[in-house]
Amino acid sequence: MPEPGTLAYRVQKHAARRLHYDFRLELGGVLKSWAVTRGPSLVAGERRLAVAVADHGLDYADYEGVIAPGSYGAGVVLLWDRGTWEPDGDAEEALAAGSLAFILRGEKLTGRWRLMRMKPKPRERRVSWLLVKAQDEAARAAGAPDILAEQPRSVLTGRTVEEIAATAA
Ligand code: MN
Repeated sequence: MPEPGTLAYRVQKHAARRLHYDFRLELGGVLKSWAVTRGPSLVAGERRLAVAVADHGLDYADYEGVIAPGSYGAGVVLLWDRGTWEPDGDAEEALAAGSLAFILRGEKLTGRWRLMRMKPKPRERRVSWLLVKAQDEAARAAGAPDILAEQPRSVLTGRTVEEIAATAA
């Protein structure tokens, strides 16, 4: 866990029924969580769908391993990034308003980012947000190498999804 006075930031790469990246921001004693289907992009302005999912406990922040078939989240979890984050202003108010600007201080993702809630579609139960990198020195140009492909391994153990999966065999 981060030092006192800071807020934890995590991304867990989750090879479940469908691969996604669980993006987590500590707030109010829990990890606010979004499932980012295609994973984050460092290209400024590139929008990545981030579906709001259940809050997770802080004790889950550094989890990595294999969740058994039939259990919630069954599949391989790889700790893809970790660090701290800092909201612009009041984070609770910003989330309620559907627009949160923040700074990430991770090992892979850094700089300025934004989460924006999309207008709900009729009969849509899930709440969709967009995760977007802001233009700054940490942003990459369109067509630059994809951070997801460039740095696929765990920040905790250096393992790949396949290597973690092999431990459960
Ligand atoms: Mn997940």
